[in-house]
Amino acid sequence: MRVGVMGGTFDPIHIGHLVAASEVAHRFALDRVVFVPTGQPWQKSDRHVSAPEDRYLMTVIATAADDRFSVSRVDVDRDGPTYTVDTLRDIRTECGEDHDFHFITGADALGEILSWREPDEVLRLAHLVGVTRPGHVLADPGLAPGRVTLLEIPALAISSSDIRARVARGEPIRYLVTPGVEAYIAKVGLYAG
Ligand code: NAP
Repeated sequence: MRVGVMGGTFDPIHIGHLVAASEVAHRFALDRVVFVPTGQPWQKSDRHVSAPEDRYLMTVIATAADDRFSVSRVDVDRDGPTYTVDTLRDIRTECGEDHDFHFITGADALGEILSWREPDEVLRLAHLVGVTRPGHVLADPGLAPGRVTLLEIPALAISSSDIRARVARGEPIRYLVTPGVEAYIAKVGLYAG
């Protein structure tokens, strides 16, 4: 079984994330993709991040209609900052160790890999796939040839920060997120200015 592990803050999850997961699943012949919303995000004390439970529920709502997609609570339920090495160990425990794991995330986040906890172990546990928006310079961090792939995803022109700003300004987010996520944001009052 080839398993994608899609790590992100998902505040909120948007269409670009879904397209990216689908595209990586196609390119790497993945059988399924497990979305893993972060718990307490690492290095993000500079901005307010929505409650893990809200980000988890939006991720469940957004992925519900796709048989290939599921959502794991491993990062949401773990105390302390989220480190990818813990994510991958817990997912291996949850899914079984005899799978081929691909950790998918934003290329910007991947660029910080040298500062991640136990980077060698992260690279041993999974192939890394950095997805990026158009215009972003695809700079290979120069790590472990064959263990890191960078992929441009045009739909990632959509960003969570832009969606939060649009909600705060009272602008529409229809078609940028799934209808269920749009309804959840309105119901809970997330990102209101
Ligand atoms: P971030 O800094 O919030 O995001 C950086 C960029 O990547 C943003 O442009 C973001 O766009 C994009 N991005 C993030 N996740 C993505 C995804 N799954 N697919 C496509 N684009 C994505 O990054 P983050 O969300 O905090 O962290 C991403 C993952 O890396 C998480 O699983 C996190 O735990 C892990 N990480 C681990 C460590 C560590 O182990 N020490 C350090 C940093 C990150 P959007 O805002 O539109 O998503």
